[in-house]
Amino acid sequence: MTDARTAWVEVGDRVFQRRYDPYDVTVTVVAGTDGLMVVDTRCSLAEARELREQLRQISSAPVRWVVNTHDHFDHVWGNAEFAAPRQVPPARFFGSAQMVAAMRGADDDPDMMRLRKALAAESEEWRAKLAELEEHVPENVVRDGHDLDLGDGRVVRMRRLGRGHTDGDLVLHVPDADVLLMGDLLEESGDPAFGPDSFPLDWAATLDAALALAGPGTRFVPGHGATTDTSFVAAQRDALAAVADTCRSLHAAGVPLDEALKTGDWPYDREHLRHAIKRAYLHLSA
Ligand SMILES: [Zn+2]
Repeated sequence: MTDARTAWVEVGDRVFQRRYDPYDVTVTVVAGTDGLMVVDTRCSLAEARELREQLRQISSAPVRWVVNTHDHFDHVWGNAEFAAPRQVPPARFFGSAQMVAAMRGADDDPDMMRLRKALAAESEEWRAKLAELEEHVPENVVRDGHDLDLGDGRVVRMRRLGRGHTDGDLVLHVPDADVLLMGDLLEESGDPAFGPDSFPLDWAATLDAALALAGPGTRFVPGHGATTDTSFVAAQRDALAAVADTCRSLHAAGVPLDEALKTGDWPYDREHLRHAIKRAYLHLSA
């Protein structure tokens, strides 16, 4: 069987997933008669150059559209490879209003500065990637939703369904292939990632909204990991709801933040929940 870690896998009619190191990040391609849509662009220009070469294994059609599911670096730092001068004519870029605002503010964001420093300290390879880093912010801002025709009536529906992994996660629905591209609202190869920009109390409801778009045979492409199905998404939804409920009851019981992690009964590795509890407490106290 073809494995998305080594080749493109057609997860639905003319919808292709590939999983890339580092971070096991998903890139998805939706092919239309007018060209290719690339969803997320990996962590660097060097990685995006490799991605571009490998797109030829799917089609020789031009990349007409690039969509970012959210603003995290492993999904957006390859963008400029599909913009002028590296690609002429350039692709049209799409992202949610929130992700566009986050990318514009990245240079003033202390978390982002810390991350860049940490990556640069990791290896010579990362230093080289950061040296050529050129952020390309999507110029087409999606507020609640936008439908895009890739030719011959093949429509991709971009939807912002609510907050969760970030405040600007976009879900892409390809109805004719019965596929939903979830970005990091869904993770298959690791626990869902709660960062300092996550919304743990809202996340389960956002997955409910995605499940409402799905049928029994819908395939869900996660931001990290293998394509999966409705029952997997429902289970992740329940675990995220359990995290939120536990945060709510600990907060209501007056358990201090630094005790909460030790006290609660959690569905995920405690080490991954530090920001979840911090953020939930912050939002509950607001
Ligand atoms: Zn992310």
